[in-house]
Amino acid sequence: MTLTTKRLPLALACALLASATTGAVSAADAAPAAATSAMLGFTPENAAAQRALEQRFDAALSASEQREWLKLMAAEPNHVGSPHDKANAEWMLARFKEWGWDARIETFSVLYPTPKTESLELVAPGHFKAKLHEPPVAGDSTSALPGALPPYNAYGGDGDVTASLVYANQGMPDDYKELARRGVDVRGKIVITRYGGGWRGLKPKLAQEHGAVGCLIYSDPRDDGYGAGDTYPKGGWRPEDGVQRGSVQDMQQYPGDPLTPGVGATADAKRLAIADAKTILKIPVLPISYADALPLLRALDGPMAPAAWRGGLPIAYHLGGGDAAKAHLVVKSDWQRKDIYDVIAVMQGSTEPDQWILRGNHHDGWVFGAWDPLSGNVALLNEAKAIGMLAKSGWRPKRTLVYASWDAEEPGLLGSTEFAEAHADELQRKAVMYLNSDTNSRGFLDMEGSHSLQHVLNEVAAGVDDPETHVSVRERARARMRVDAASGRASPEDKENAAIAAKGGDLPIGALGSGSDYSAFLQHLGIASLNIGFSGEEDQNGVYHSRYDSFDHYDRFGDPGFAYGVALSKVAGHTVLRMANADLLPLRFSDFSDTLARYLANLHATVDDMRKATQAQDALLDARAYALVSDPTRPVGAPVRESDVPAIDLAPLDAAAKRLQQSAKDFQAAYDARVAAGSAVTPAQQHDIDAAMARMEQALTDPDGLPGRGWYKHMVYAPGLLTGYGVKTVPGVREAIEQRRWDEANRYSVITARVIDGYREQLDRLTASMRK
Ligand SMILES: [Zn+2]
Repeated sequence: MTLTTKRLPLALACALLASATTGAVSAADAAPAAATSAMLGFTPENAAAQRALEQRFDAALSASEQREWLKLMAAEPNHVGSPHDKANAEWMLARFKEWGWDARIETFSVLYPTPKTESLELVAPGHFKAKLHEPPVAGDSTSALPGALPPYNAYGGDGDVTASLVYANQGMPDDYKELARRGVDVRGKIVITRYGGGWRGLKPKLAQEHGAVGCLIYSDPRDDGYGAGDTYPKGGWRPEDGVQRGSVQDMQQYPGDPLTPGVGATADAKRLAIADAKTILKIPVLPISYADALPLLRALDGPMAPAAWRGGLPIAYHLGGGDAAKAHLVVKSDWQRKDIYDVIAVMQGSTEPDQWILRGNHHDGWVFGAWDPLSGNVALLNEAKAIGMLAKSGWRPKRTLVYASWDAEEPGLLGSTEFAEAHADELQRKAVMYLNSDTNSRGFLDMEGSHSLQHVLNEVAAGVDDPETHVSVRERARARMRVDAASGRASPEDKENAAIAAKGGDLPIGALGSGSDYSAFLQHLGIASLNIGFSGEEDQNGVYHSRYDSFDHYDRFGDPGFAYGVALSKVAGHTVLRMANADLLPLRFSDFSDTLARYLANLHATVDDMRKATQAQDALLDARAYALVSDPTRPVGAPVRESDVPAIDLAPLDAAAKRLQQSAKDFQAAYDARVAAGSAVTPAQQHDIDAAMARMEQALTDPDGLPGRGWYKHMVYAPGLLTGYGVKTVPGVREAIEQRRWDEANRYSVITARVIDGYREQLDRLTASMRK
């Protein structure tokens, strides 16, 4: 369900690209095929053998096979519980077996609501009945097929409500503050929000917390319809009847089956009653098209919406809130359990069978799911076939490969989460890393994940050719990072990343929030994880989670020719193969410790900025400035006075991070000496060192987890409570500061420092054993 929205508009990006690629490009990066630099974790001799293996792997990949598989897998609706989603799982099982993998389907039984009754009417002024339907589109061969679920939001509440409408912009916390300043209250009302600004599920959750009785979420054409470009089928953007479905499960509490938090949803698992499941909302929610939203928004009166809230529809955007515009919303779901089908394929390691390298992508879609997720899934299948061909020629990975195609990602990461919870102990003992992908398309390589994996991913990306420009995919990503940071909209962090990128070495990888299947592995179990994919040159947003996310759309607008499907297979496959075959695991903890130091500097800056902003606002309030500028005919109240920002004691964290930087340097020296010694490493020593390295990420978890959401145990990376997919680094401290819970910030500074110290002590022990 990944959807990245931080991109620059394409035209601007292209216009600037030509000048940016003339920056510093290392010789190895400019000519990826000739890259001969050192390979982390490999002796020079074994590195040469690994490169030869990767060339044989690449030769077995096929763009035309990926295209053929995508067409087949996206031929019918693939939502959870649909016959074709199950048929795809069985088809993949047969392919994995044919390719020489030891494969099985693992089934879980999860709560999966499907719509039974849905209706939306404007009852005053006048009458309008929403269509809530996506009609066939010329030239899209699957758009007329039966069998799809109507557009809906999974895990919203059941309800039948008639109430006044309020337009709440994107329905994020600041939007409610603005409504309050304009005297608009949402209690007892139906809130209409537009997509964007934060995760979809937060919109109804915040509406519910503010007392609303229903929530609508519509796609404004300014964001992903005609305001962005030509609409489907002329272009790829959202047509007027296109609807973005999606989960509104409260995933910031915990993802997965709402009834089995923390344990696998096996047939005999102990289950919560539906009423007790914390992640199911209470109010009815419905996603709608802009054709259905227009009459509702046009009917609103009351104050004009602030300028930034106005979208691309041909109306004056009002806030409503009075009695003039009333709607009747009915949503009733069938709250049944459904079986879901994870396809798990294993290739035993020859020398380290109990060290697992995991690779996954999901296979369920909201409808056909050609972009999301099957484009990434066919790349994964292509890797599995190529690895199978290597195995048939007598090769074996040293460590065990586990390939997984997850079911039920869309409703809330269910397939991966239930698998991770069901096998938690074994995964924590054996898993070395998890590599995820999801939607893939033309463009730039996105790299996110655990920073101990930053260097191996960079080495791999420096050796894969970009299909459009023929520099390495890393050089192209570097150019994009630098160009984006030069734009007026870049964040301080973007600029800092670009400055690192400009030096020509490793690109900084992003931290993981949520939004795809890595969450349970990384944030619940503490398994080092990566999430990769290409994007940025497409019209994806226009069909995201709609019926028009089809093979025909993808073939025209996603990745015509499937060259980026093959590029994804190369980046993912090379990473997996290097992790599987390295003499010592290619993890570099100094990249993590350096990144952590940056996060802490950023935390200090956040505290300082908040303090200055609070003081500035206090001065305006003291001077009655807001009251004096308010137009008495259109009054806007002053913002609420915020609490002063006290001194936050980040010293324990700073000290822990500094100690860790030294320890990570010491470790790296010992590691390099070991790899240089090559054959001096006995198999037993290697086994012990690898096992200890693989468990390092787990030392970043705390058994009690984050405040109020103990499922999330990682103390450095978490999805934001008020951002949804967006990451919060050092979340225990950062979120407490941002939400002005000062005591909690001080407490989590100490708790997080203790976790960092524990990580360092484990690393010191590893360094000592490496020197023996
Ligand atoms: Zn997806």
